[in-house]
Amino acid sequence: MARVALLLGGNEGDLKRTLQTAQRLINDRVGAVMRCSHRYQSEAWGFHSSQLFTNQALEISTDLNPIEVLDAIQQIEVELGRNRAAEQIEKAATGARYSSRPIDIDILFYGSEIINEERLQIPHPLLPEREFALQPLAEIMRTFRHPQTGLTVGEMFDAVRKREVVPTEQ
Ligand code: ADP
Ligand code: MG
Repeated sequence: MARVALLLGGNEGDLKRTLQTAQRLINDRVGAVMRCSHRYQSEAWGFHSSQLFTNQALEISTDLNPIEVLDAIQQIEVELGRNRAAEQIEKAATGARYSSRPIDIDILFYGSEIINEERLQIPHPLLPEREFALQPLAEIMRTFRHPQTGLTVGEMFDAVRKREVVPTEQ
């Protein structure tokens, strides 16, 4: 049994409903949902969008290995309307690395395993920089330590929040 942290997010469609359905499918196919954060809204990150993002973190307990978890969550994304081909077209048009999507499911931690494969990097490499991921994660596993840096989720969240304080002009 591995303890896995997932981040669910999206900015298209009925997010409350999509996240509820995603959670049910994850619970049925990937592993029992042990804890779930509230839903948090934030501005799009890395590209411009008028649609706010909604994010939620889940802690699950799974018997699947990391690649099996990735396969299962990508299948769920497709079933919930994610269309990577359409996203590629949007990204080509805007030149941005990211695009709007109804659902994105990322693996943040898989126990304390470190994986660096082309298709899968765990812990998620951008986690320490992403307030929108750390905030919901801190709600459910504040004291869990990042296996590479040794920082807790709570410490990472505090660090990113401090960094994002914009100085006011004098
Ligand atoms: P992004 O999440 O970066 O916005 P995608 O959801 O389209 O974009 O993911 C792109 C690829 O990232 C996936 O096809 C997957 O193979 C890869 N990937 C690498 N590490 C992870 C991870 N920890 N969780 C989810 N996907 C990952
Ligand atoms: Mg993703």
